[in-house]
Amino acid sequence: AKAAGKGCVRRHGETADAATVRRTRLARDLPDALSRGELRLLYQPVVGVAERRVLGLEALVRWDHPALGEVAPDEFIPLAEDDGLIVPLQRWVLERATAELAVLLEQGRDLQLGVNISARHLQSGSLVPDVSAALARAGVPARRLMLEVTESLFISEPDRGGGDLQTLHDLGCVISLDDFGRGYSTFAYLARLPVDVLKMDREFLAGIEDDERSAALVLSVIELGRRLAIDVVAEGVETPGQLAALRALGCRYLQGFLLGRPTAPADLPAVIDALDAD
Ligand code: C2E
Ligand code: CA
Ligand code: CA
Ligand code: CA
Repeated sequence: AKAAGKGCVRRHGETADAATVRRTRLARDLPDALSRGELRLLYQPVVGVAERRVLGLEALVRWDHPALGEVAPDEFIPLAEDDGLIVPLQRWVLERATAELAVLLEQGRDLQLGVNISARHLQSGSLVPDVSAALARAGVPARRLMLEVTESLFISEPDRGGGDLQTLHDLGCVISLDDFGRGYSTFAYLARLPVDVLKMDREFLAGIEDDERSAALVLSVIELGRRLAIDVVAEGVETPGQLAALRALGCRYLQGFLLGRPTAPADLPAVIDALDAD
């Protein structure tokens, strides 16, 4: 899929017209997706190098469209943001993810759950009550929940939402800055926002095995995290070579297809146990 303008992902071999028809259809059907139960969550493991086990999971939403099949979040989240559906959708994600986490915690697993947060939800002012309600209903402590935000959140309205993020941090939620290094300069936000975790964009991993400059960039991000007492997660680890390079550079937290794919809840215990055993 190739980005072709805001909220429009043109699929391989698709004409502009076909992309528009698809987008219009998805936008029309999205309001019913929630009530019809067409959304589900997959969970991708985050592995601790020193701990040698799965420390966390990231919730990733999917839409099973009755006629079009599986639709990726990059395609429908922007539509939900344009339609004002994003807040109910995010509420559903929070409720479902915390409930599914509660099951794993009851099995005695020590895990943290990452949920992707939309800028619109933060700006709506309802994120704090929505997160609190989901945690209370599931009986999950706030420190188990990591809220993944992107810098795009703060580009448009720098100070809206910053206060709510601080409130959530004060409640005990973990705040991570997602896609770190993609696009804009995030350094200013690192000084101002209560960031606990940096998720280093997978672009950084291109070439780290054999290119000294790429490796130096990754090392700089890891050093930056160390100095700010922020944990750095490398996203998009796909090859054993990348894994070896990241270990050598002192990266402590890893996520990517090599370690574990986004996984259905029913398969999680087996996937986690297999990773922990390594
Ligand atoms: P993200 O937060 O950066 O999530 C990581 C994305 O990278 C996921 O794509 C994941 O499947 C993919 N990925 C993981 N490991 C690898 C790898 O080794 N190689 C490659 N090439 N990709 C990898 P996915 O699930 O399609 O999600 C795409 C984006 O959609 C997410 O990017 C996030 O920004 C957004 N998203 C997903 N779920 C939600 C949600 O519940 N709410 C909101 N607001 N956004 C969501
Ligand atoms: Ca994320
Ligand atoms: Ca990311
Ligand atoms: Ca910290």
